[in-house]
Amino acid sequence: MIFEENFQQHTPMMQQYLKLKAENPDILLFYRMGDFYELFYDDAKKAAALLDISLTKRGQSAGNPIPMAGVPYHAVEGYLAKLVQLGEPVAICEQVGDPATSKGPVERKIVRIVTPGTVSDEALLPERQDNLIVAVYQEKEKFGLATLDMTSGRFQLCEPHSKEALQAELQRINPVELLYCEDFAEMAIIENYKGLRRRPIWEFELSTAISELNRQFGTKDLRAFGVEKSPLGLAAAGCLLQYAKETQRASLPHIQSISVIQNNDNIQLDAATRRNLELTQNLAGGTENTLASVLDKCVTPMGSRLLKRWIHQPIRQTDILLKRQKTIGEIIEQDLYHELQPYLQQVGDMERILARVALRSARPRDLTRLRTALEQIEPIKSLIQTKTSSNLTALSAQIDGFSAQIKLLQKAIIETPPLLIRDGGVIAEGYNAELDEWRTLSAGATQYLENLEQRERESTGIDTLKIGFNAVHGYYIQISQGQAHKAPIHYVRRQTLKNAERYIIPELKEYEDKVLKSKGAALALEKQLYDELFDLLLPHLGQLQLASLALSELDVLVNLAERAETLNYVAPQFSNEIGVKIKNGRHPVVEQVLKDPFIANPVNLNQQRHLLIITGPNMGGKSTYMRQTALITLMAYIGSFVPADSAVIGQIDRIFTRIGASDDLASGRSTFMVEMTEMANILHQATSQSLVLIDEIGRGTSTYDGLSLAWACAEWLAKKTRSLTLFATHYFELTALPEQIEGIANIHLDALEHNNTIAFMHAVQDGAASKSYGLAVAALAGVPQSVIKLAKQKLHQLEKLSAQNGDQQIQHLRALNQHQGELAFEAEPDALREAIEQLDPDELSPKQALAYLYQLKKML
Ligand code: ADP
Repeated sequence: MIFEENFQQHTPMMQQYLKLKAENPDILLFYRMGDFYELFYDDAKKAAALLDISLTKRGQSAGNPIPMAGVPYHAVEGYLAKLVQLGEPVAICEQVGDPATSKGPVERKIVRIVTPGTVSDEALLPERQDNLIVAVYQEKEKFGLATLDMTSGRFQLCEPHSKEALQAELQRINPVELLYCEDFAEMAIIENYKGLRRRPIWEFELSTAISELNRQFGTKDLRAFGVEKSPLGLAAAGCLLQYAKETQRASLPHIQSISVIQNNDNIQLDAATRRNLELTQNLAGGTENTLASVLDKCVTPMGSRLLKRWIHQPIRQTDILLKRQKTIGEIIEQDLYHELQPYLQQVGDMERILARVALRSARPRDLTRLRTALEQIEPIKSLIQTKTSSNLTALSAQIDGFSAQIKLLQKAIIETPPLLIRDGGVIAEGYNAELDEWRTLSAGATQYLENLEQRERESTGIDTLKIGFNAVHGYYIQISQGQAHKAPIHYVRRQTLKNAERYIIPELKEYEDKVLKSKGAALALEKQLYDELFDLLLPHLGQLQLASLALSELDVLVNLAERAETLNYVAPQFSNEIGVKIKNGRHPVVEQVLKDPFIANPVNLNQQRHLLIITGPNMGGKSTYMRQTALITLMAYIGSFVPADSAVIGQIDRIFTRIGASDDLASGRSTFMVEMTEMANILHQATSQSLVLIDEIGRGTSTYDGLSLAWACAEWLAKKTRSLTLFATHYFELTALPEQIEGIANIHLDALEHNNTIAFMHAVQDGAASKSYGLAVAALAGVPQSVIKLAKQKLHQLEKLSAQNGDQQIQHLRALNQHQGELAFEAEPDALREAIEQLDPDELSPKQALAYLYQLKKML
């Protein structure tokens, strides 16, 4: 370290600072100095830039001025929030010694390290979103991954079996902080995550992990958790736990177990599918118009987070799903959600409050909110129990009454306490006799002082005499200048003001000591009692956590009941047969944003008809139809009701999507490369129980390549994987597939053409689309009429040509493929439009006309 050679030349305070800094060289150190947290040297420069605060200098140390930046301690939360957002960890260093008794600088200690993934402070957390930290470990081609939710104690591990699986898992978890082993090889997968922390290899040692975890859970071995067959996951969990402890510098009693995520229990969604289906985030990165935005009207933040977890992790155990469905049904039947929601709302974010109780960082208002939450349990339970319903009653049985804890909190804390315990006034009267005594003593002051003032006024005959208090001089007697000459001899002058003189007398001084002492004693006792509250609550932490989980689940189910009724959803049925059969299905999100009525559509996929080629005009509703099928399936597999008249859904193991083409700019891969990588993944992984959506495969390459690829992919999915597939395509040639391969059928979305305009019907029908409608869509999009007319002539010629010779079109395509250079208008619709406008219809060969048509279609 650069300071070492001249360490002794630094001031004692800077020596203390440098020692603390050396413990955490890479982390911003917030060093407490009175009412400020200060940062020095490079930290100061970095913080000034990140926080937009001024960079100044503080005195000199070792012969040089010290660059410094600082933030007031009472405003620190805002600055921490900003740094946490940026993924920047911060070490908080407090004064722990007593300034009155210390020689040299007051003793200071790093009390905790605030990092994005381990914070539990309310102000630093997104309310309705999980805040997760992850550790990843790799051994050859195998991975271990552990996830911790510091704000609830949820601790999980898994072993993704491939790079794609790891990628999908990370996308699901969306960690705010990611620890990785220094020898982790697949950096490309993680390098775009914020809050990356490289950790030494020894933190991932299996034996250390096992002993750390046993110590944490108070167990002798980990068999009860079923994790012994996941050594890589355990290695990651070990590192994660050590990191969590290091940052909190406190025990973590709310982390009481660890569980394994088994792939087979869940429907697998790969990274692209999560994105494409816009589950909790839309393609633009926002949260509007997502499945969650429609489904989540939970009244507690913890319910909201749980529902999002469900959405990202649909489960395959139909017994659990049926239970959820039945509970939702009961809530609707008994019209319970109107009654339950107001109580649930009062429960608030019990889960995160409990985490702060466990970390002993809960604030007075956390405790009153916990009190309010617990007070709701009785009315909620009695509401549920009066309406005898088996599933709800089972849920309510998981929630204890906690009457002792309610009484404790009612007795201990006043109605509306101040934000912080720091200045006292939190503990209620009557909770502790000694506290009451000290308080009476310090409060008795007013009465005593009034009496004293009265007495002195009378004995001196000075009517302007007043008793006052200020922080510097303590209590004083004040007399106006005009009457100061009447001050008795035993009055000792303390301060002279313009209009008045201030004095003290021994009696007042004595009194002052007593008041200050009792105030100090009251505050100290209050802090002690507050701390003891944690001791009294912590033995019940496990029970309380279970109750908060049950209440979250109740909130989610009540919410899904409300949604089902409001949005007119039905309970889907599960079947052991392979297939998806939906009557009048709707897209849950599109139907909400659409001003026109949504046209409901059927889906019928089964073993005999498992691949549907979907044709129809652009804007016809193909991708809406495909997505709604996936979303309805997914909703069924979280236990929700679905937007349809009826739905029977068979076993599903994975949902795949190859939709839309977005350049993966971050990794520098082209649209076509992304498309093909996603496609390859599907072809490798899909099974007969997979639901596969393919939209416009082959767009990113030349027409003929694209067509051949699309054809081959469809054939593979039909013959080899036999997956339940919806295959939308603009290659009309693919509609010939059903005649050649079993299990494939054509469906199409219709439109009506009239006077060069087009009306989309959005209704799915059997068979192939009759026309491409490309020209009508082009007209709608504002392509000049003359161009449309020309295109029409050429189309007509082409159709005649292809009627004469069935192969002609394909030959044109092949020729076109070879002449791609001449016709490269791909990226520039405006240039294409211009070029078309300048064409002379009579000079255009059929080949070129066809090419323009294809380009036009692509462009739209
Ligand atoms: P395509 O994939 O065929 O180009 P989209 O699925 O993107 O078409 O649909 C285009 C637009 O048509 C949607 O944004 C929506 O506004 C409307 N739409 C789609 N399906 C329906 C439907 N079933 N009912 C009503 N409007 C629909």
